[in-house]
Amino acid sequence: MCIFCDIAEGKIPSYKVYEDDVCLAFLDLAQVTRGHTLVIPKKHFANILECDDETVAHLAKVTRMLAKKITDNLQAPGCNILNNTNEIAGQSVMHVHFHIIPRYGSDDGLIAEFRPNHEPYDMEQIVKDING
Ligand code: 5GP
Ligand code: ZN
Repeated sequence: MCIFCDIAEGKIPSYKVYEDDVCLAFLDLAQVTRGHTLVIPKKHFANILECDDETVAHLAKVTRMLAKKITDNLQAPGCNILNNTNEIAGQSVMHVHFHIIPRYGSDDGLIAEFRPNHEPYDMEQIVKDING
């Protein structure tokens, strides 16, 4: 059983923002900021790594379209578009989704911070490792 499949099938109610044949967007129950929206495929994929290219491309297109609409119409100067992949990265619902989190100020509910560690990484080796 998957809670987002239930939402996609209308078994669990949601505040729907957008819908087409492939995907659905609805308000996150726990609004990090006003207008926090989730974009999901109607078909179940556990995460972005499991999802096919065509569906990912469609999700990206709809996410961009909605991010523009949300920031314009809710007067947000910017937004964060987030995807958490697997538990280690904070994924709690195992049905792929993008978060659109409109941003209103530095103290608006989302703390997103990069903290680079300063280990002397061998950058050339990293590129080689990534490409196998
Ligand atoms: P994740 O941590 O997996 O990236 O994000 C899952 C999100 O789904 C969370 O922000 C959580 O608030 C939201 N969520 C969980 N259950 C429900 C639900 O039943 N309805 C809605 N609208 N959002 C949910
Ligand atoms: Zn699902």
